[in-house]
Amino acid sequence: MKLLMDRILSEGRALSDSVLKVDGFLNHQVDADLMQEVGKDFYEYFKDYGITRVLTIESSGIAPAVYTAQALKVPMVILKKQTSKILNGDVYQTNIKSFTKGTSYELTLSSNYINKEDRVLIIDDFLANGEAATGAARLVEMAGATIAGIGILIEKSFQNGRTKLENAGYHVYSQARIARLGEGIIEFVEEDK
Ligand code: 5GP
Repeated sequence: MKLLMDRILSEGRALSDSVLKVDGFLNHQVDADLMQEVGKDFYEYFKDYGITRVLTIESSGIAPAVYTAQALKVPMVILKKQTSKILNGDVYQTNIKSFTKGTSYELTLSSNYINKEDRVLIIDDFLANGEAATGAARLVEMAGATIAGIGILIEKSFQNGRTKLENAGYHVYSQARIARLGEGIIEFVEEDK
């Protein structure tokens, strides 16, 4: 998606050869107009997949996921990183290793907001080693629902997330695929340029 790639080039900053910082429009400050365009692009890609719910992981997935859900005219559900007392009752939970923090966290989904008939689109901001998306997919499968697809804004194609997800049988669409990061270097996958 050219709009997102241009924005990554103009405002993104490679913190190392593996971490990209995009706090100005996605992870800290959010550009709502850009997120709406991101949502429309996911809609165009996934509109014929029979999606009934969009799931995302708090907090950076929420903005793009809500516009995607709006375009698809389906509900958006947030997978919670903290178990709250209000969330007791029937919940699905799984453990995820955080790529950026190097720690683990519990991801929680209430059974009220998913059912066996659902065809789910998982949206997340980044794809690195695929831990977050795989964990989200595990929750969907625990609920007996189907994963219709996984939509990612920024895929770091030099890490193994896509391979892991595709080997598990999931269909992945990434709007921007990064081939290489380095000091002052952000390179996209050749065929996307
Ligand atoms: P994975 O689970 O695929 O290893 O990592 C994906 C998650 O880690 C995303 O939800 C995102 O929050 C975070 N993440 C991974 N790589 C980056 C990165 O380069 N920059 C930022 N800002 N977040 C990242």
